[in-house]
Amino acid sequence: MATVAFIGLGNMGGPMAANLVKAGMTVTGFDLNPAALKALTDIGGLSANTACGAAAAADIVITMLPAGKHVRSLYIGNNSGNNDQKGILDVVGKDTLLIDCSTIDADSARTVAAAAADKGLEFIDAPVSGGTAGAAAGTLTFICGGSDKAFEQAKTVLDVMGANIFHAGGAGAGQIAKICNNMLLSVLMLGTSEALSMGIDNGLDPKVLSDIMKVSSGGNWTLDKYNPCPGVMDAVPSSKGYQGGFMVDLMVKDLGLAMDAALSSQSSTPMGALARSLYVSHAKGGHGKRDFSSIFEQFAVPAND
Ligand code: NAD
Repeated sequence: MATVAFIGLGNMGGPMAANLVKAGMTVTGFDLNPAALKALTDIGGLSANTACGAAAAADIVITMLPAGKHVRSLYIGNNSGNNDQKGILDVVGKDTLLIDCSTIDADSARTVAAAAADKGLEFIDAPVSGGTAGAAAGTLTFICGGSDKAFEQAKTVLDVMGANIFHAGGAGAGQIAKICNNMLLSVLMLGTSEALSMGIDNGLDPKVLSDIMKVSSGGNWTLDKYNPCPGVMDAVPSSKGYQGGFMVDLMVKDLGLAMDAALSSQSSTPMGALARSLYVSHAKGGHGKRDFSSIFEQFAVPAND
């Protein structure tokens, strides 16, 4: 069975790596946070002192990191004259497959893919959808960008952590598809929140209104799985004080990536731009660490007499 190096064992990476261990794979982890690393060794994973230490002996390297700068510096290293720091690309074997599951800008993904190709290595961008619950349950959706050969190889390990594995296209295509999806999700969440609030303001029961819209032409994922109005659905963040789930700060990051991509492709994205503005104000109002469905509260303020 494949030997895996897993770097970045946070809210998402931790449970993803745990599923690989449960499947019987040898997983060597590394994270800057010792507690995250301990959680992996407690369930039978191995630990390394550095990212390169974990990657050097692995057949497959998987990274799950916050942003593009972390991914670039870990893979490519820092060749700054007197302070050279090796990257993962400098230490892995010639047949090692490199998979980055972080949500980052497509340019960083393409830069790392090109640097890997220069060394004869295959790199796949494979951002995920499904959140922390999907990571724990092993039901994530992986959206991949890279060569056909690398995608076929990656599927064998991604299958262990996910339920849907898509090949969106070449390098960076996974990241583009992911931010298109999250831009649409933000618009759906905002639209659903304002429609539910208008119904409540006009005397409707949000549960009844949700049941109606779910099976009508306004039906969408937020009504089916993630209702933003407290009390309508059990076990979703809106019914738990908007704790857990997908943070407003991460949605702001993804909408920033979407706006950068729109600028560079000269795409018109007025709904995405408005969604970004509304989510930025929500984050600035002190809600950055809450679930993104808490945007509902911006509409649910009672009208003045
Ligand atoms: P997180 O902050 O919980 O985890 C990131 C981990 O990376 C942390 O444990 C941190 O210590 C570690 N790290 C940072 N720099 C490092 C380095 N140089 N070397 C080793 N470890 C390092 O974040 P998360 O929620 O797990 O998200 C990770 C990625 O997944 C992000 O790109 C995010 O946008 C994406 N994502 C998150 C969700 C979600 O619901 N949380 C859903 C889909 C995608």
